[in-house]
Amino acid sequence: MVWRNRTNSDFVRSRYISLFIEELEQELSDALDINIARVASKIREIGFSCQKCGHCCRAAFGDNRVLLTQKDILKIAEHTGLSKSGIVTPMLPDDPGPFSFSSETPDIPGIDLDTEGNIHTFGWMLRRKSNGDCSFIGDEKECQNRCKIYDARPMLCSTYPFYMESMELQVSECEGLGHKISGSESLKLAQDVVRRYIAETRDTISLYRKFRDFNADDGGGLDIAARRAKEGRIVYVVHDSDGMHRIVGKFQ
Ligand code: SF4
Repeated sequence: MVWRNRTNSDFVRSRYISLFIEELEQELSDALDINIARVASKIREIGFSCQKCGHCCRAAFGDNRVLLTQKDILKIAEHTGLSKSGIVTPMLPDDPGPFSFSSETPDIPGIDLDTEGNIHTFGWMLRRKSNGDCSFIGDEKECQNRCKIYDARPMLCSTYPFYMESMELQVSECEGLGHKISGSESLKLAQDVVRRYIAETRDTISLYRKFRDFNADDGGGLDIAARRAKEGRIVYVVHDSDGMHRIVGKFQ
């Protein structure tokens, strides 16, 4: 969500959010009535069997960001004993470009900066290694392409390459598409895909209910962010279904 360049009054903005929440509530109520058997039959028609290529977990094969629901984070924390900060990082654009914070790049693509130099983001994603791969993918030698948290992996991973959007089944690129899938497997996958759709829609509704607007940067914020970057710091404000969280990270 970018409020930059919006000239509407606060009233119009809050009305916009209310309308958006109403739309999401309608979508949630429709999602609760989805015909799972119909979704399962579409999955069966498309065909899918995981080829264990690990492409969806590695950065070399495209966008491998894993957006997490609150349930995902709790499940992984319970399974691994890790703290939230050991699991997640603020959701950022896949390629935000270099965060130079110089006055020559006043508009950092895909980044919402406020007047206090904070970067606003929406939701959390799984941490990634320095090479961009998911932090839970096994090392090449150790257990190639195996997920170390398989039993507690996020819903996005267990349903990949399928997802729902505007009540329709969607498919991402995947080596496993077109392979035979049994009736019971496609039914289980359809149930998980719809469960994920419902959980994500609920999280998004809560996020917008708790959302507190911020003043988009008009130049001063960039100077503050640049000063912090020189000191090796970067400040994020993450908006999620619990509210707003201020995170201080390292700037490299
Ligand atoms: S959590 Fe597991 S399945 Fe999901 S991206 Fe990471 S390694 Fe892959």
